[in-house]
Amino acid sequence: MGNDIPHVGFGVYRIPASRTAEAVRIALDAGYRHIDTAQVYGNEAEVGTAIRESGLPREDVFLTTKLNPQRHGYASTGQELDESLRRLQTSYVDLFLLHWPSPGRDRYLESWRACADLLAEGKVRAIGVSNLTVVDLAWLAERSDTVPDVNQVELHPGLQQAELRRYHDAHGIVTEAWGPLAEGESLTDPTLRALARKYETTPAQLILRWHVQLGNIPLPKSVKPARIRENIAVFDFRIDAEDMARIAALDGDPHGARSRTRGAGL
Ligand code: NAD
Repeated sequence: MGNDIPHVGFGVYRIPASRTAEAVRIALDAGYRHIDTAQVYGNEAEVGTAIRESGLPREDVFLTTKLNPQRHGYASTGQELDESLRRLQTSYVDLFLLHWPSPGRDRYLESWRACADLLAEGKVRAIGVSNLTVVDLAWLAERSDTVPDVNQVELHPGLQQAELRRYHDAHGIVTEAWGPLAEGESLTDPTLRALARKYETTPAQLILRWHVQLGNIPLPKSVKPARIRENIAVFDFRIDAEDMARIAALDGDPHGARSRTRGAGL
């Protein structure tokens, strides 16, 4: 699965619908072939329009959307996917994720079962989860034989999620990184800035390259054309092992506890 996903995706969270088609157009022009949206972002229609108008064959673009966590349930999952496909102007998505667990609603497993059936129907090419901890993944594994293709989680140099990445690797789950630049926060870190100077890149490129070398799929977001282009130009240098270790030492939270309370189960 991991080799089939383009290694840097373009995230469109918090891009207003009115600016989304233009941002996605710039991203596709810059060479991105992976777009990450969600039902709750309110911009699927504009993502779909930009992909259609790009003239690229549909199969050249890896497209992800995510189920609205308010709509967990077997039937609602299929209905919501159909609505997404209509807005996205396509007959399938490459990846469909359960966006967040919804504690108290207890419909997560029904949605997960629906995802497996949608896979068999061909409306989704891969299925996954998002914001699950190791405890959550183990909980899911006890109740379903369907292993998620992907877990999309907050991950950046200050929150490296090492334990979770080990679990993913052991179970063949691809790690996607949201907030790969810590929403810009990582860009001011003095160690990362010094390393960026050493490799003659920008801090954003250094961090995104670090993700790629770890095997993560980062999903940086920007609406600025120069930054959109900058964030995908990370394939012409390599961070050496010693510097990878320096970045590993920046992990502020070895247990990855910042995203969400651990161990609560779903
Ligand atoms: P990010 O780390 O990509 O930060 C984006 C911000 O960083 C931008 O708004 C800008 O201020 C800054 N930035 C980006 N490129 C830059 C550059 N080259 N130079 C300087 N500053 C730069 O974080 P994000 O937007 O929170 O996350 C990225 C994507 O991840 C989202 O668009 C979305 O697709 C996904 N996401 C998923 C979830 C989830 O629950 N699954 C949650 C949040 C985000």
